[in-house]
Amino acid sequence: MLASGFRLAISFVVLGSLLLPTSPSDTSQGSGDSWSISVDDAAHEAYGLSYPITYEFIIPRHLDSAQAFHRHLSDAPWGKITEQTADAVFNGIEAVRFDYEAHRAYVSLSFDAASDDLSLMITDGDGSIQTISFMRIARYYDNRRCAFIFSGDDWGVENTRDSFSNWHSVLRNRNIWATSALVTGPPDESYWQSIQDELNLGNVEVAAHSRTHPHPPYSDPDSEIGGCRDDIVARLMLPWQYRRGTQQYVPGWVEPFGQSDTVVRAKLGEYGYLSDRTTQTILYNWADWDSGRGLYKRNGITFCPQLARDAGFARRAFDYAYRRHLLCHFYVHPWKMDSSGTNLSVWQSGSWFVSLMDYVGNRTDVWYVGWGAAHVYRYCQQQGIITITPLSAPQTHEPATQSASPLN
Ligand SMILES: [Zn+2]
Repeated sequence: MLASGFRLAISFVVLGSLLLPTSPSDTSQGSGDSWSISVDDAAHEAYGLSYPITYEFIIPRHLDSAQAFHRHLSDAPWGKITEQTADAVFNGIEAVRFDYEAHRAYVSLSFDAASDDLSLMITDGDGSIQTISFMRIARYYDNRRCAFIFSGDDWGVENTRDSFSNWHSVLRNRNIWATSALVTGPPDESYWQSIQDELNLGNVEVAAHSRTHPHPPYSDPDSEIGGCRDDIVARLMLPWQYRRGTQQYVPGWVEPFGQSDTVVRAKLGEYGYLSDRTTQTILYNWADWDSGRGLYKRNGITFCPQLARDAGFARRAFDYAYRRHLLCHFYVHPWKMDSSGTNLSVWQSGSWFVSLMDYVGNRTDVWYVGWGAAHVYRYCQQQGIITITPLSAPQTHEPATQSASPLN
């Protein structure tokens, strides 16, 4: 019995690292009544790290009602974490979701501007502190089954403004996050205001797409890469997931013409980008870390569903990523979809595009996320910058998962 359980655990560890976002049988990393989560100070400063990261804990088997609390300073009062359920659609917010059947809590928390540390505890419904065991940082936010990213190119360019607003509306109404690649040279005051209005309506990430949309080699790479970032943070108030105190962060880069070179790559690392989107297609996987440059390698997209005839393949591509726990990333030029406002029916209910978004959106088990934010999350999950340790030892020597409650 013990031996087979041991073999099962080993095989899940091996398989889990290759295939599965979660595997319920692998081993925990210690038990405690309350937990400390600390982030590397330099990484916190460099990337803000406000996007919530999901921590998976094992909760006691008898628990059928619980609450989670956190605080950022050790002498601060505990604050209750808002509970969300498996049938709610939520993304990129602080939340706790309890799965009592699987004895799990998925706690999604931001780092605060004032501190590199946060602490966490879970109580039962009566307020008694529970001993919990840490498993892992979830591969995807809230331990979702797959990730969906949708980027749109050339925001800020002449005659794209209304197309972007319409495209954002279709996505926002289905709880999908848009990643809009902004060229910061062209917009006039009124266009900048419309960009801010779109951010305020929600579910829009701004990615940098240069100042002048050049081909490499760039005549002024610092202006195109660093200057574009500076324009964004100077002109806009970004969503809170992209801010830390008064600092704002632009983790996403989208290559003009899908082109890059060694100078561009070096400058992306220098100016604090974490991701680099190109236009290669039929990809479902994430890029590896580029340790030499300090950001993820260039990565393409799954598909560009820009015409009605693309809808069938787009659905199948989404289904493929969904079945296999992968990334589905669509990209489009919104103004090409409506021919710069002359074909507005594409944004209307029943069109091929709105039907496709009806199919993809509003799912409770899909992580809808911006391109840059997804890489901030992956950076936190993969690069070892977060330390999770028990603050207090459990009351018994029995691991929480194996103790039979006297109450049951
Ligand atoms: Zn472009």
